[in-house]
Amino acid sequence: MHALVKSRPEPGLWCAEVPVPEPGINDVLIRVHKTGICGTDLHIYEWDEWARSTIVTPLIIGHEFVGEVAAVGANVADLRAGEIVSGEGHVVCGRCRNCLAGRRHLCAHTQGVGVNRAGAFAEYVCVPMSNVWRHSPHVPEDVAAIFDPFGNAVHTALSFPVLGEDVLITGAGPIGIMATAVVRHAGARHVVVTDVNPKRLALARRLGATVGIDPRSEPLSAVQERLGMREGFDVGLEMSGSPTALRDMLDNLCHGGKIAMLGIPRRSEAIDWRKVIFNMITIKGIYGREMYETWYLMTVMLESGLDISPVITHRLPWYEYEQGFAVMRAGDAAKVVLDWRA
Ligand code: NAD
Ligand code: ZN
Repeated sequence: MHALVKSRPEPGLWCAEVPVPEPGINDVLIRVHKTGICGTDLHIYEWDEWARSTIVTPLIIGHEFVGEVAAVGANVADLRAGEIVSGEGHVVCGRCRNCLAGRRHLCAHTQGVGVNRAGAFAEYVCVPMSNVWRHSPHVPEDVAAIFDPFGNAVHTALSFPVLGEDVLITGAGPIGIMATAVVRHAGARHVVVTDVNPKRLALARRLGATVGIDPRSEPLSAVQERLGMREGFDVGLEMSGSPTALRDMLDNLCHGGKIAMLGIPRRSEAIDWRKVIFNMITIKGIYGREMYETWYLMTVMLESGLDISPVITHRLPWYEYEQGFAVMRAGDAAKVVLDWRA
């Protein structure tokens, strides 16, 4: 089969002919239909510090996908060939305290599809049956392909109640844009989104932001005043990885405010803990999605009118992946979806 492989420890990603994976007795072999390119894939492509310390080459990368069940292992009784599925990208150990207690998203030994084991940028991918999510027929395939990052957005956005609340989202990348639509759907009052990229801010406004601003040109205090807000944002979703954005968020939160942190800073960064303490702020770190409550919530929100499809700005055949990575690198794209049947 064709696959996009990180063949060598240097920048780049290469198309290769590789064997179709053999499913084990508990595995599901999936014929990939569509995949999303994630920021993580871009890091692996660029071979940055994180990628150099994490990825063992050669590796088929990619973890955002939708496809159909092609074959199942002998122990898999409830999935049939042809069913449309995605895979949860975190393969958990099943044996640590959290896994045994049913808190699989808190597993101490997570393995990432396309990071620590063969990924989905290929005609076929193999995952354990416990990682397979069967899609509702109401979910379009393009959207199903990005359930993984959509799940990051939903898990972060719904970490704290947002009904009637004023929400600040820093970073209008694909995840920040989807989170905007989610908190809007979940009944937030004002949704203020910040980014330094005007195209992405425009998309955030389209998906429901009350205001989308470049924090370098208008301070958040001025936005609060403009919106008639008096005590600060109730909930902050950090989705940029920028330490400046986090510090700005801390300065603009109400007393008792809540922060869900998804964005990954490039290095260890300091914040003023006195603000956290005296303003009684709660900070929650987010990694991945909840298995499988987030997947359920994504599905029912789509079925009840949530539309995140405008976040997909580019659709390409898989062999034009270089172009897909180029538009992502340039900040021109939000979500890029590759078609593996093209
Ligand atoms: P992205 O890099 O496409 O988006 C980040 C956005 O932040 C960009 O649009 C950028 O212009 C903007 N930004 C940069 N500096 C800013 C500033 N000072 N203020 C406001 N915005 C600023 O990433 P994404 O795919 O949308 O993911 C969002 C973040 O979440 C990234 O940091 C990513 O690494 C991280 N992530 C975490 C998890 C997890 O499980 N914790 C999963 C996926 C992604
Ligand atoms: Zn575990």
